Amino acid sequence: MNYRECYLYGKEKFIQAEIAEAELDARLLLEYVCGTDRTTLFAHPDREVSDAEYERYVNCIAKRAQHIPLQHITGVQEFMGLEFYVNKDVLVPRQDTELLVEEAMIHLHDGMRILDMCTGSGCILCSLLHYSNHCEGVGADLSEKALAIAQKNAEKLQTEKVTFLQGDLFENVTGSFDMIVSNPPYIRSDVIPTLMVEVKEHEPYMALDGKEDGLYFYRKIISGSREYLKKGGMLFLEIGYDQGEAVSSLMKENGFRDVCVKKDYSGFDRIVYGEL
Ligand code: GLN
Repeated sequence: MNYRECYLYGKEKFIQAEIAEAELDARLLLEYVCGTDRTTLFAHPDREVSDAEYERYVNCIAKRAQHIPLQHITGVQEFMGLEFYVNKDVLVPRQDTELLVEEAMIHLHDGMRILDMCTGSGCILCSLLHYSNHCEGVGADLSEKALAIAQKNAEKLQTEKVTFLQGDLFENVTGSFDMIVSNPPYIRSDVIPTLMVEVKEHEPYMALDGKEDGLYFYRKIISGSREYLKKGGMLFLEIGYDQGEAVSSLMKENGFRDVCVKKDYSGFDRIVYGEL
């Protein structure tokens, strides 16, 4: 078996299994199994793979064909140019969330204290700390299992001055912050059954579920932030495409000024932020 034959095998299996990005996933898994990159695969389609590699590839293809997320097979996801460990206990970092980090970075100054509420894999907080100087971060999450992954990510990225706290939202948070960031669960409970199998059956339900109207966590985080933000501190929230108005109103009602809604690259409302 060579690279090309393996790739075609994977692609065919994925088309049959109705995997959304059959070609891409077949290639990424081949890169993963053979420890190679895209350029090498394209430049050397005739290069033979070992029996062990072929066996591993077939195995990975079988898993992905059952709609197990690609990142649960490879164990990693790139986010903000950094590689994060992921597993079934955390939401896989999304490209949309990079916009939250980029927007927050514009307002982040050296030495600030940042709180990441519902930190999950820690991707938002670790990225902010990685790309800034002398900032200090606290990541809070209800899930102990998620925090274990966040901690592993902080160690892998050698993130300094970071603490992870288990608790129900602000329950165990102390002190005050210059910036609070959050990508909380925001999908309406009745929408969850309509999501892709990869998401609804394999990603943590608690990381998705924004309860009845999807806004449960925004209410709690926005009102709670008033107690934990310094004067002039800023709150940055990722939102669903149809939540811009509701979430910005909630922020204004809670005393936030200069509330802005930013669109993502697909043209959908994605980030709301404002100053207290
Ligand atoms: N903050 C994490 C992320 O953006 C987890 C979000 C969540 O669990 N809803 O990936």
